[in-house]
Amino acid sequence: MAEISDECWTRVKGRLRAEVGEAVYSSWFARMELESVEANTARISVPTLFLKSWIQSHYAERLLTCWQSERPAVTRIDLSVRSAAIRAAQPTFAVSPPAAVPHLEKRDTGHFRHEIKSISASNLVVQDSRGGSPLDPRLTFESFVVGRSNTLAHAASKQVATARRGDPVMFNPLYIHSGVGLGKTHLLQAVALKINNLGERKALYLTAERFMYGFASALRSQTALAFKDALRGIDVLVVDDLQFLQGKNSQAEFSHTLNSLIDGGRQVVVAADRPPTELESLDERIRSRLAGGLVVEIGLLGEELRLEILSARVQAARAHHPGFDVPAQVLGYISRTVTHNGRDLEGALNRLLAHSKLTSQPITMELAERELRDLVRPVELKRVRIEEIQRIVARHYNVSRSDLLSSRRTANVVRPRQIAMYLAKTLTLRSLPEIGRRFGGRDHTTVLHAVRKIESLIGVDNTLAAEIEVLKSQLQE
Ligand code: ADP
Ligand code: MG
Repeated sequence: MAEISDECWTRVKGRLRAEVGEAVYSSWFARMELESVEANTARISVPTLFLKSWIQSHYAERLLTCWQSERPAVTRIDLSVRSAAIRAAQPTFAVSPPAAVPHLEKRDTGHFRHEIKSISASNLVVQDSRGGSPLDPRLTFESFVVGRSNTLAHAASKQVATARRGDPVMFNPLYIHSGVGLGKTHLLQAVALKINNLGERKALYLTAERFMYGFASALRSQTALAFKDALRGIDVLVVDDLQFLQGKNSQAEFSHTLNSLIDGGRQVVVAADRPPTELESLDERIRSRLAGGLVVEIGLLGEELRLEILSARVQAARAHHPGFDVPAQVLGYISRTVTHNGRDLEGALNRLLAHSKLTSQPITMELAERELRDLVRPVELKRVRIEEIQRIVARHYNVSRSDLLSSRRTANVVRPRQIAMYLAKTLTLRSLPEIGRRFGGRDHTTVLHAVRKIESLIGVDNTLAAEIEVLKSQLQE
C-alpha cells in the first residue's frame, strides 16, 4: 500500500485515540488494520466479529469523521473480519456522512470560510461535527457529577454558561486546569452547549489545535475580515487544551483574539493540563493575561465521586440497553481499583456493557475482575519485599521457602516458584537479574520465562488469575 495511506492511517488513528481516550481506544481500536483505500472507500479489518459489530454499532460515524478530517474524499468505511472465510460470509457495512452536514474541503481556507459563514448564520453550527472540535451532546451540566474536587470549576462554568448578555463579566478568562480525564472537556463542552441551547448568546468551542489550523490561518489570509465578523458575533469563546497551542504566529493570533474579546467585555473560557504560569511555550504576556482571570484547578476524583460517576453512567446506559445491570459490588470494585481518571472509568464500563450486550450474561465480580485487569491502578511498588512474596506464596501452595529457592523441578514446586517470580517482578522494582539471584541464583532469562509464562496463563486460566489476585492482596495488606 502506498506510504501516503500509511501515514494518513496513522493520523486517523491518532485522531480517534484523542477523541475517545486511551482506554476506549485500546479496548476497541488497537487491532484495526487498514486493508486499502480506494476512491471513496477505506477498507478496515478487525480480528473478530465481536469487535466488528461493536465498532459498527457504536463508533461507525466517529471513525468516518476521523477519516474525513484527514481525507475528505473518503465517504465510506468497509469494516470486515480479518479471516478470509468469515469475511466472505459477513457483509461489510457502510456509513455515509449525514446529508445535512456539508461536505468539507480541508484544503486551503475554503473549508474555513464555510465555517465562518455558518457561525454567523446559526448558533447551532458548533453542534454539527465537521472534523474539528464537535460538541458531544452527552457532555452536559446534567451529566456532570459534582464533588469536592470540582465544585469550584463547576460553579464557575455554570455561572459563565447562564450569564445573560449585558451582565457584567465576573471573571475573564475562566481558566480551568487539571490532569487528564478529570472533566475539563466535559465542563467546557457543557458551557458551549448550554449557551447555544439557551439561544440568547453564541458560544464557539475550539481546541487549541483547531484554533491553530483554522482560525489562525484565516486571520493570515484574505478571510481575515470574515473571521473578524464571525468573531464579533460570538459572546463566549471556549478554547480547550491550550497547552497544545504552538508556533509564534498562532500565539500572536491567540493573544490578539484574547485581548480583543476580553477588552470587548466578552467571555473567554480556557482549559489546559497545567496552570497558566507553567505554559512555558507561551509568551509571558499571554500567560499573565490568562492568569488575570479566575484560575481553577480540578483535583483528582475521589473514590466517592468515581462511584457516583459510574452509577450515573450505568443509569444513562440503561436508557439504551435496558438489560444492562451492574451490581453494586462491581461498581464498588471499579471505583476502588480503576485508575482515578474519568476516561478509564468510561472505558471500564464500556467493556462491561459490550459483554452484557454481546453475551447476554450477567455482570459478575469475576467477569469484572477478568475484563478490567489492565485498567486496575498500579499498586504501590516499593513496599513489598521479595522474602515476603516467597513466604506468602510458599504458604499458599504448601511448599517450603527453600523449595522455591532450590533447583527441584517437580510440578508442585515449579509453578509456585514461577508465580513468586512473577509477583516479584510485578510488585517490586527489582530487576530480572536481581530477582534471579534472590531465587537461588537463577539466570535472568529464567525469571523472564517465568514472568511470561504466568502472564499468558492468567489470560486463559481464571482460577490461577484469581489465586494471584488473592496473593497480591495478601501482600498488600
Ligand atoms: P479532560 O478533558 O480533563 O481530560 P474529560 O472531560 O474528557 O477530561 O473527562 C473524561 C471522561 O470522564 C469523560 O467521559 C467525562 O464525561 C468523564 N468525567 C470526568 N469528570 C466527570 C464528572 N465530574 N462527572 C461526570 N463525568 C465526568
Ligand atoms: Mg480534554
